[in-house]
Amino acid sequence: MKQWISALLLSTFMMAAFGQNHFNVLVYHHVSESSPASTSVSPEQFREHLAFFKSNNYPVVSLKDALAAIESGDALPQNAIAITFDDAYRSIYLNAFPLLKEFNYPFTIFAATDPIDQNFNDMLSWDQLREMKKWGAVIANHTQDHAYLVRHRSLDATWKLQTRQNIEHAQQRLIDELGSDIPKWLAYPYGEFSQSLQDLLSDMGYVGFAQHSGGINKDSPRTALPRFAAAGIYANTKTLATKIESLPMPISESDLSDMLTDDSQPLFRASITNMDDMSRVLNCFVDGSWHEVKWTGTQSFELVSEQPLSPGRHRYNCTAKSKSMNAYYWYSKPWLIQ
Ligand SMILES: [Zn+2]
Repeated sequence: MKQWISALLLSTFMMAAFGQNHFNVLVYHHVSESSPASTSVSPEQFREHLAFFKSNNYPVVSLKDALAAIESGDALPQNAIAITFDDAYRSIYLNAFPLLKEFNYPFTIFAATDPIDQNFNDMLSWDQLREMKKWGAVIANHTQDHAYLVRHRSLDATWKLQTRQNIEHAQQRLIDELGSDIPKWLAYPYGEFSQSLQDLLSDMGYVGFAQHSGGINKDSPRTALPRFAAAGIYANTKTLATKIESLPMPISESDLSDMLTDDSQPLFRASITNMDDMSRVLNCFVDGSWHEVKWTGTQSFELVSEQPLSPGRHRYNCTAKSKSMNAYYWYSKPWLIQ
């Protein structure tokens, strides 16, 4: 008994000493050898990831619990991560689920419902989703039809109505098939969002998940929560470790510029809100290539691509070393050039 109490006190102390107020989310798609490499990990790689999380003491937490902790201010374990899958491919059931059960790791699947309703070949069935949900998986909304929600659409009342109906249809299908406890979470198809879509999600009471990199803490915009890609070229465990151990950069965007823009050289202006623990050396990247930053004040800076960016998705990423920890502060600004 005494030993048990000591262990409990020790773990409480460790939590207080080593807890953190943020967490990172990983996004997977296929767990298969026969699917497109850029969005896939092989079953062997996926096992390697799970074993790596375990051996490195990266606690895999439920997305629901982690979001609740962010809202309530409760500490999360150090290097906490949540596992998510987008699109509801059948390989999640066939190849990932047995491993997730073996490691007892919680996970979330964001499902577009039409491909399931239409019994598409490589998609999960409702029965498979029910079985995984019964085990403890959370199933959430990835729209009805995986449409490009914000590209080439006029931002008018019709767009708003259609988009709302699309999301509500998917939510109703999930509830009809899986039960009433489906969270109001939406993963944006292709990670693409706009201010209008964020506003609509807020109106509807949804949390929105995107696909740009970065951690989640109390300051993260609830309609544009970042997730780190963990497949394809991002699947190697060394780079994954850097991301899992990364800290959300305390930053405030001066312009709050919309992801959706007509400007092929979008200007990103931001201020670091707390530089106490952050190196002043800010390493920024435009689509993965290092790019010079212009400091405009002691804590404010600008970044603009020297080259015009092609229509489609692009990213500015900025990192800075922590002074106290062997980790990087990380911020990502996604763009969707029209
Ligand atoms: Zn998707």
